[in-house]
Amino acid sequence: ISESDELRSFEDSGIYRLAGSGAAFLDPVRILNESYRRFRLVPSAYYSRCFGPSHQGGEAETERTEETSPKRKKRKRKREREPKPRELNEVERIAEARHQEARPLLLSAHRSLLKAEYLLEFLPRMTKEDVRVLDVECNLKNFVELGSSWRAPFCEMTLCFHKSSDEDSEEGICHRTSTPLFNSIISVEENDDAEGEFQDRCYILPRQSCFLMSDLKHVGGLIHDNYDQGYNLIVVDPPWENGCVRQKVVYPTLPNRHFLYLPVQELAHSAGALVVLWITNREKLWKFVEEELFPSWGVKEHTVFYWLKVKQDGSLIGDLDLLHHRPYECLLVGYINLNKEDARGSKFKFLEERRVIMSVPGAHSRKPPLQKLLSQYIPGPKPARCIELFARELVSGWTSWGNEPLRFQDAVYFSER
Ligand code: SAM
Repeated sequence: ISESDELRSFEDSGIYRLAGSGAAFLDPVRILNESYRRFRLVPSAYYSRCFGPSHQGGEAETERTEETSPKRKKRKRKREREPKPRELNEVERIAEARHQEARPLLLSAHRSLLKAEYLLEFLPRMTKEDVRVLDVECNLKNFVELGSSWRAPFCEMTLCFHKSSDEDSEEGICHRTSTPLFNSIISVEENDDAEGEFQDRCYILPRQSCFLMSDLKHVGGLIHDNYDQGYNLIVVDPPWENGCVRQKVVYPTLPNRHFLYLPVQELAHSAGALVVLWITNREKLWKFVEEELFPSWGVKEHTVFYWLKVKQDGSLIGDLDLLHHRPYECLLVGYINLNKEDARGSKFKFLEERRVIMSVPGAHSRKPPLQKLLSQYIPGPKPARCIELFARELVSGWTSWGNEPLRFQDAVYFSER
């Protein structure tokens, strides 16, 4: 498939498969937009960090920017004059060894991106499409605060389901109904987007999506009595304790041991589930996950995916080898209720190799959508039943749970199609 065909297919699907490295480049906006019929996410609202000062730091690890960036040359000269770095301690040595193991794969993926000239030319246009000045951060509702206040049980959302008066007409009537906002499961069963109104703000709810906005204490509300109703894809992005998140107070964090009580095994489908866990680069956390958390959830045979973050010119958002600020995050991907042996002869592919995905990051800690990329590796009946734990957005065909699953559903992020 030629580069221009691959770009055309990317414009359609949001996934660009890079020749040679097995890596994929994603446009989360295109992928997420498949969830909506009457609305669309505004690219410049998703990629808002591309336009702010926070995104301008960092340097790339490539020949391309090495040649073009005088700043980099200056820093390199300065580094050469600086004294030798201190010796690494025991934990840092293990982390460094893990990084060195991943490095060739990351570099090969990045090199293949830099060779995809058509895609690189397209990226700045992709992120700047439909530029809007957003004041999202200061006006957004704080669901975390509201959900933990005494007012929470009284909060109601008015749902507005769009009903077409006749099949061919886009004009329609709105069927309205009210429902408690916290600690209750809210579903959009229609094949059309719904709108939710709450305290003078509007939220766009994608067709066939479902959410539960609650604290971890009420997560049991998601468990079905019947295991055939379980989920085939379970994505978990926990609020790990981490100096950086605590400093910025972007969201509350929880002690690691609390995640042992997440009912991941109870949520898994009896015919098997693919589990994806986002994890930070802290060595202590890897040990906890591999030795305690995965065994307690029943997750086996896991492999690693890397999410390499790039700027809109294709360069990395930071130096690849910077010890405490890697420009990539890791996902551990494994199976529940399924072994490699059971998977032989099945219709889905058993995931074994490590992979790299790349994208231009959106808001702080916002992760790229994964279902489409992973669809061939999900066991069990189709269409797969998918759930995200600690979600901040809704997706068609998914259940989203967390204390702020409507965070990115505010109408300011959308425009009408
Ligand atoms: N995956 C998300 C995304 O891509 O935008 C980011 C999730 S963020 C790492 C973790 C989320 O867990 C935050 O929304 C945070 O508010 C939520 N959280 C923290 N403590 C919680 C609790 N006790 N119960 C439920 N959710 C909690």
